[in-house]
Amino acid sequence: MPKISEGQSFSNVRVSIKEGLTRPPKRFTEDTLLALMASAGAEETDRSVERRGIGTAATRAAIIEKLIKTGMATREKKSLIPTQNAIHLIAILPDALKSAQLTAEWENMLLRVEKGETSGETFLNGISAMITDAVKSNNAPKPEYAKLFAASAPKDAGVPLGSCPRCGAPVREAPRGFFCDERNCGFKIWSDGKFFTSKRKTPDAALVTVLLKEGRCAVSGLYSQRTGKTYDAVIVLDDTGKHVNFKLDFNHRDSGQYGGGLLE
Ligand SMILES: [Zn+2]
Repeated sequence: MPKISEGQSFSNVRVSIKEGLTRPPKRFTEDTLLALMASAGAEETDRSVERRGIGTAATRAAIIEKLIKTGMATREKKSLIPTQNAIHLIAILPDALKSAQLTAEWENMLLRVEKGETSGETFLNGISAMITDAVKSNNAPKPEYAKLFAASAPKDAGVPLGSCPRCGAPVREAPRGFFCDERNCGFKIWSDGKFFTSKRKTPDAALVTVLLKEGRCAVSGLYSQRTGKTYDAVIVLDDTGKHVNFKLDFNHRDSGQYGGGLLE
């Protein structure tokens, strides 16, 4: 750089603009994520520790499956995409809990237990103290993050609409649909599920209540994509135990024998 000072002027300065596009970083695939998990925090882990990185060769794939099952990530072709909930969660989690260094520290401690340099009790007490502290000092999201959770917070644990056909636990309404209380059960009826959106209907609490109780419910004003008109039918809940499907029954639509009657 030539010497320049404030107030100096220059003539015949040639400038040009170079246009370009930046590319977002590549999404993780299962392979690239597994490789990163294997090396995460490995430098901080004692050389003689058997387990390095996050998880073990046997458990890493299951950790990714768990992220998908708990709604933290979705698969799009080969890529793993974090959900909005996951992005929000990462925003509020204390740094210590997000760091692979924590795993490394724990593995190092376990090695010391193995060598008899410290006791298992000391190790567990340490973890217990850390969790107690983390919960105490993070009992609410920071004000700047509070609004991230307003939309997804459960509606004050609304009244149960009925029993889950799979496990019997209560099913409640949430902002995006109706969900079984039992986290591992997985029974849910999405508000914007394909069956209903194609018929231009949004399942409401009244409809879901009857479906849970009777397994079917007469509904009017279903839209037909074929004719462009609306029709009445009985919607039958057809839960395979893995997927919640719906069927239409046209034979009993006028009988009115299925609770609920015709819902507008
Ligand atoms: Zn259930």
